[in-house]
Amino acid sequence: MAPLMLFVKNGEKANVVVRGARVVDPSEGIDATLDVRIDNGVIAAVGENLDANEHRVIDAKGLVLAPAFVDPHVHLRTPGREDEETIASGTAAAAAGGYCAIMAMPNTDPVVDSAATLGALVETAQREARVRVGFLAAITRGQHGEELTEMAELAEAGAVAFSDDGVPVRSAGMMRRALQYSSITGRPLALHCEEPSLSHGGHVHEGAVAAELGFAGYPSVAESVMVERDLALAGYEEQPIHLLHLSAAESVAALRRALENGVHATAEVTPHHLVLTDEAVRSLDSNVKMNPPLRAERDRAALLDALRDGTISSIATDHAPHARHEKEVPFEAAPFGVTGLETAFAVLYTRLVKPGLLSLEMLLERMSAGPARAFGVAQPRVAPGAVADLVLLDLEREWQVEETAFRSRSWNSWLLGETLSGAVRATIAAGSLVHEA
Ligand SMILES: [Zn+2]
Ligand SMILES: [Zn+2]
Repeated sequence: MAPLMLFVKNGEKANVVVRGARVVDPSEGIDATLDVRIDNGVIAAVGENLDANEHRVIDAKGLVLAPAFVDPHVHLRTPGREDEETIASGTAAAAAGGYCAIMAMPNTDPVVDSAATLGALVETAQREARVRVGFLAAITRGQHGEELTEMAELAEAGAVAFSDDGVPVRSAGMMRRALQYSSITGRPLALHCEEPSLSHGGHVHEGAVAAELGFAGYPSVAESVMVERDLALAGYEEQPIHLLHLSAAESVAALRRALENGVHATAEVTPHHLVLTDEAVRSLDSNVKMNPPLRAERDRAALLDALRDGTISSIATDHAPHARHEKEVPFEAAPFGVTGLETAFAVLYTRLVKPGLLSLEMLLERMSAGPARAFGVAQPRVAPGAVADLVLLDLEREWQVEETAFRSRSWNSWLLGETLSGAVRATIAAGSLVHEA
């Protein structure tokens, strides 16, 4: 089995002492005011009154230092749509958002379904990526759902997992064969669960808001029946799956039952599904149009409960950049997807942690250790000997989301103009200081 690989440019390794931060690492059971010394990109010491060793000292009094974030679901739009995002811009956005690693989806143009296409991305990442990138490869050729890709070869070439994200694998038989092959590669399948014959033509959640606005509805059962199918197949084949961007209460219930029955599944939820409902669609802002759509309050509440109890172990942005001209059209004509790398922590801190709906520790865990475990990549830790993958957060700082401040090439954010609390002051990824603000 090929070893798991993420790719990053070889940056200058940090020699830094972070002085007097509140160090919070839920996995290590740390929540204390401490110094952290980084020698040549590796955490050398965690303690009180550490010697600066002639390193640069970052005064972090009043700030929180935590394991940097891992995003299991990002669209980097390359190859094919470099006007919307590139590996350089997407990883700069990730660094600004506090991420040390991101997983890139293969629904590009061309689709990442061959070792040659994947190899070109790996080379670009080794030149341009500020934070580690794990590349997913397609499950089926061209994501057409008709023929499996050469999964073993793709795993050898560096694929971290497999996904047809953007579209579901329609055929149950094809999904079963993909699960059988994934046992050879040792890589999970990351699944976009949507039954097209039920979601068909829908722009927003099927409910009162869609009916009032006269939009075709995309019912929650379009997701949950596919979640049930894929959990059943994963259980039958005893293979791991990762469920992308869950949105519906019924999907959560199905996942909970499957986990009780020993199915090896992980799942993620996005910031927008955690804090918004289909009521937001009344604005007709195309930046609240995403797939799966924003759903009802009972769905949002179920997702938050599942995040709290660990049924859903990862927060994913599903960062989906789109060009302005594509989004500045009537709601029904706009493509699905919103950006999220640069706002994920702040919006969840502002809307969930500050009002007491989620603890800071749990938010940090679900944005870092949870997704790292789901993909089997090294978990960022605040511990001597670990490569420095750290985020320095200013919880007191308020800032306004402005399109001119984005590092991403796109600004189709549903948070434009909003004031958020909690800012990323610095990110250290793979031992290099990759962002400072
Ligand atoms: Zn998707
Ligand atoms: Zn996606």
